[in-house]
Amino acid sequence: MKSWRDSVRNVVPYTPGEQPKEDGVIKLNTNENPYPPSPKVLEAMKEITNLRKYPDPAVSDLTEALSSYYRIDSSEVFVGVGSDDVLAIAFLTFFNSDVPVFFPDITYSFYDVWADLFQIPFERKPLNEKFEICAQDYYGENGGVIFPNPNAPTGALLELETVRDILDHNREVLVIVDEAYIDFGGESALSLIHDYDNLLVVQTYSKSRSLAGLRIGYAMGNRELIKAMSDVKYSFNSYTMNEPSIVMGTAAIKDEEYFQDTRNKIIKTREWFQEELRELGFSFADSKANFVFAAHESIPARELFEAAKKEKIYVRYFDKPRINNYLRISIGTDEEMQALVRFFKSMMNK
Ligand code: PMP
Repeated sequence: MKSWRDSVRNVVPYTPGEQPKEDGVIKLNTNENPYPPSPKVLEAMKEITNLRKYPDPAVSDLTEALSSYYRIDSSEVFVGVGSDDVLAIAFLTFFNSDVPVFFPDITYSFYDVWADLFQIPFERKPLNEKFEICAQDYYGENGGVIFPNPNAPTGALLELETVRDILDHNREVLVIVDEAYIDFGGESALSLIHDYDNLLVVQTYSKSRSLAGLRIGYAMGNRELIKAMSDVKYSFNSYTMNEPSIVMGTAAIKDEEYFQDTRNKIIKTREWFQEELRELGFSFADSKANFVFAAHESIPARELFEAAKKEKIYVRYFDKPRINNYLRISIGTDEEMQALVRFFKSMMNK
């Protein structure tokens, strides 16, 4: 007799960063924004009056707000429950070839999880020894390409001309540029969506807009791509975006001043923190994200990670080949980063 156990879809799930429950923690492990969202977001909560009815399945208000912010047509925007949802739908919609999808060996660790879940063949392209993506690795025949820019967890940025080069060598497959961290110093590939009908640019509210808790992500690209994703979404769950997220997300995108102010603060803190790390004997690729990925010259990363945790300072450690001597440290407030630097100095007797 066959058991239901023989037909289970077995997957090895993605492991999200720890969300500690204790008080007094300095939390630098999941790249959240240390600043609260725009006060306009809280004001907009009063407008959430319509919880009895289903939300707008087309998410029109938020889609319109994003399309006018980015000066593109609303048919070129797809909104989802965080960029994880948007990326998963993109994998499901576009990566249906027998030829492997290409992505870097050191990258966002959800890509291979989705590929396994949806049974998509994939090939990892090694970053060079400076942890950079090599465009030539993506020239060969493939079933699609995806990479974050800046890359995660390295924080290294690809210049727009290199992104263009990858696109020029991949005209027939979907190329996804995952720009979760682009607002912290990179140039977005959004300017290329009208030149390349196979380019999907994915961004999120979780980092630069301080709204990880609302779960809002979006993709921008050619309207045919967006239509294909919408068709898949409507075949799965029409009401992905809840009413509070639609209302508050629409308010957030309208507060440009607050957005500029907080992201500039984070960039400034990051630059200061990188200087401090260098003096302490860490090495790292220059980060254009809201985190730094650093290895120390003498103390193993695991040791630093565990000792920091004892002091209630949470950073991220990945026990994986090539990166198991690195810490990924999210950029917090100045005070939080100063506390971490003090902790490192005490570890290093400095
Ligand atoms: N892409 C990258 C590269 C990320 O690091 C993250 C954050 N874990 C995401 C996408 C997903 O972010 P969210 O679902 O919160 O938008």
